[in-house]
Amino acid sequence: MINPIHLDTDEKYFADTDYMSVSRYKRLDKCEFAGSLNTPTIVTEPMLVGSFVDAYISGTLEQFKKDNPEIISSRGKTKGQLKAQFKKAEGICQYIDNTPTFKQFMQGDKQTVMTGEIEGVPVKGKFDIYAKGIAINDLKVMAKIRDNRGNYINFISDWGYDLQMAVYQELAYQNTGEKLPMFICAVTKENIIDSLIINIPQEILDDKLDEFKSNIKRYYDIWKGEEQAIGCGVCSTCISKRLDTPLISMWDLMSI
Ligand SMILES: [Zn+2]
Repeated sequence: MINPIHLDTDEKYFADTDYMSVSRYKRLDKCEFAGSLNTPTIVTEPMLVGSFVDAYISGTLEQFKKDNPEIISSRGKTKGQLKAQFKKAEGICQYIDNTPTFKQFMQGDKQTVMTGEIEGVPVKGKFDIYAKGIAINDLKVMAKIRDNRGNYINFISDWGYDLQMAVYQELAYQNTGEKLPMFICAVTKENIIDSLIINIPQEILDDKLDEFKSNIKRYYDIWKGEEQAIGCGVCSTCISKRLDTPLISMWDLMSI
């Protein structure tokens, strides 16, 4: 199920076009051309499950339910009840409440917005949990955190959460003068809920902030239309703009 244009309750945060956000950066990093387009965010059901849990942690679940009536079944035997995915989300909320260390990491100010300037570019970030003077924690509701053999997956690098946390740490540092420890608090949507709290080493945060710094000015200029975007050529946006078919040798397929 796809909900066409979902406006978050803090609509203004997302609509604000003066500041670069980490999500905008990531889109531009994936493909400068696709990322430079102001396409509305399509919110999928899995994303809404994450937002459901965020809303619960923030104490805004009732408002979230009002804003997203599509999470409630409108027909059949289950009419009036939460749809299956959101019952699962409710289960995740209960799990967090019953898991002492996880619950402890959810303590602090919720959805704190901070702004700053990195390489001369205005940047904003929204922290899930800001425990003043202690830590910044981000809640991630994941499909899974282990592979089929039971080993942990490095989903933090895969999804760029390290870069996100590096930017958040820098924004908090600019505003408060404190460089706080950064934690990813992951919980899964599996039938048997798994969870993990991960501290991101300062060395990785420093590296990722450097990476962000080396690209941000160009991405900002592309976004503002002051620099020419170079399309990646392989994403659906680039393919949709292509005017002809590539002609290659089979060798090209074999060298991949
Ligand atoms: Zn592309």
